[in-house]
Amino acid sequence: MNRVGIIGGAFNPIHYGHLFAAEEARVTFKLDVVYFVPTGTSVWEKEEPLLDKEIRYQMVVIAIQDNPYFRVSREEIDRPGKSYTVLTLQKFKELFPASSLFFITGMDALLKFHKWRDPEEILELAELIAVSRPGYTLNDVTRSPLNSRIHVLKTIGVAISSREIRERVRKNLPIRYLLPPEVEAFIREKNLYREEVPR
Ligand code: ATP
Ligand code: MG
Repeated sequence: MNRVGIIGGAFNPIHYGHLFAAEEARVTFKLDVVYFVPTGTSVWEKEEPLLDKEIRYQMVVIAIQDNPYFRVSREEIDRPGKSYTVLTLQKFKELFPASSLFFITGMDALLKFHKWRDPEEILELAELIAVSRPGYTLNDVTRSPLNSRIHVLKTIGVAISSREIRERVRKNLPIRYLLPPEVEAFIREKNLYREEVPR
């Protein structure tokens, strides 16, 4: 494989915003494959704790099964400690020494890029693809250190977030058409996101 895409995230739960960003990046940048890498332990303080990592992993497995170019990686789930992207990319470089790596993010994540651990090393290991996301305009990118290794992928903005889905489940609002039906069925079957997870 020459060109390997990687999209990291909590995937709490995975939704069509993630899947579209990955597919659009794959086609635009001619990626041979895209790995979804669910976070083990988040680096960012979240207002609510993440759902169990095996459950988030399972939802990714279910969501990507019909796309032959998509894969899921247990790298961050199985690695102890916080899920720093730089460590994940080092691992992918070991696994694919001859490939070019492309790390896919939403525009919101790119705006925080300077706060990530070892941003310079990240850009040596991988090129970054930042995909449009409603609420985060291209102008905002000028606040982030632009670089020939950072690509802005301007496309349809998908205004779906995991937070919105979690809140909708809690409020008994529909989530159908926001994520794959198999993932919705899994959420219903396991009764996920019905209440705030205690800290
Ligand atoms: P939450 O609302 O809990 O923060 P999220 O929807 O932002 O969840 P994450 O798992 O935090 O999802 O995101 C993983 C990656 O996917 C990040 O790089 C994020 O920017 C990107 N992403 C998530 N949703 C979208 C979207 N709708 N469009 C483009 N990129 C997205
Ligand atoms: Mg997010």
